[in-house]
Amino acid sequence: MRERSRSVVSRFGIIARGALDILYPRVCTVCGGAAEGGHYICWDCLAGLPFIRDPYCSLCGDPLEGSVEHDFVCSWCMRNRPAFDMARSAVRYRGAVGHLLQRYKYHHATYLSYDLCLLLAGCVRAHLLKDGIDAIAYVPLHPRKARSRSYNQSRLLAEHLSHHLHIPVERNTLRRVRWTSTQTRLHAEARRMNVMGAFQCCIPDWVEGRRWLLIDDVMTTGATVDACARVLKENGARRVVVATVARG
Ligand SMILES: [Zn+2]
Ligand SMILES: [Zn+2]
Repeated sequence: MRERSRSVVSRFGIIARGALDILYPRVCTVCGGAAEGGHYICWDCLAGLPFIRDPYCSLCGDPLEGSVEHDFVCSWCMRNRPAFDMARSAVRYRGAVGHLLQRYKYHHATYLSYDLCLLLAGCVRAHLLKDGIDAIAYVPLHPRKARSRSYNQSRLLAEHLSHHLHIPVERNTLRRVRWTSTQTRLHAEARRMNVMGAFQCCIPDWVEGRRWLLIDDVMTTGATVDACARVLKENGARRVVVATVARG
């Protein structure tokens, strides 16, 4: 009975959303044109996004201009072996992607989380699912930032992705125990030092022996996801792979 009432509610939700889409047609966040099928990015703008293609570092996924015939590991990963086993991103942080992620992260455009999650899901299916994933974690915000922003953009992506991939998202697996200044103006080594010791594992028993997918919105040098992956590995994670929407 409860299942039946739930399905009636979800059907009502779909109908209500459809009616709202007719009354207030959705517009594309990038070009302002019509966006169809419940999306906030139109098909033309979606097709024009700078998707990451070969060649890229087989470890951190950093794309390289030009052509390389074989798998390679970039010089940064050679010098600073990351704690994660593999990282991949869907698109480059350029043009329309920068605009979308700025709105999503800093201007409360949480309605974009579904479209951004679709980009992320494509990337995970293409690169990270084949070796198995037991659970999803996300980069946590410091409690002070969580209060001021009112939502964690990475958590929203992880929750949508969990629904798409039928893999559980473990909320509060990690916590940020130290306030860190913004990474945007720091060079790579300073970013690494800035987040060192900034994260802790809340529930080590959950982490041990499992294969984790760690989610963040943007990866630039990888310092933040690397610090989180290190904590998961130190607490016994069997494997940690990272997926982000964009790569800086
Ligand atoms: Zn558009
Ligand atoms: Zn690399």
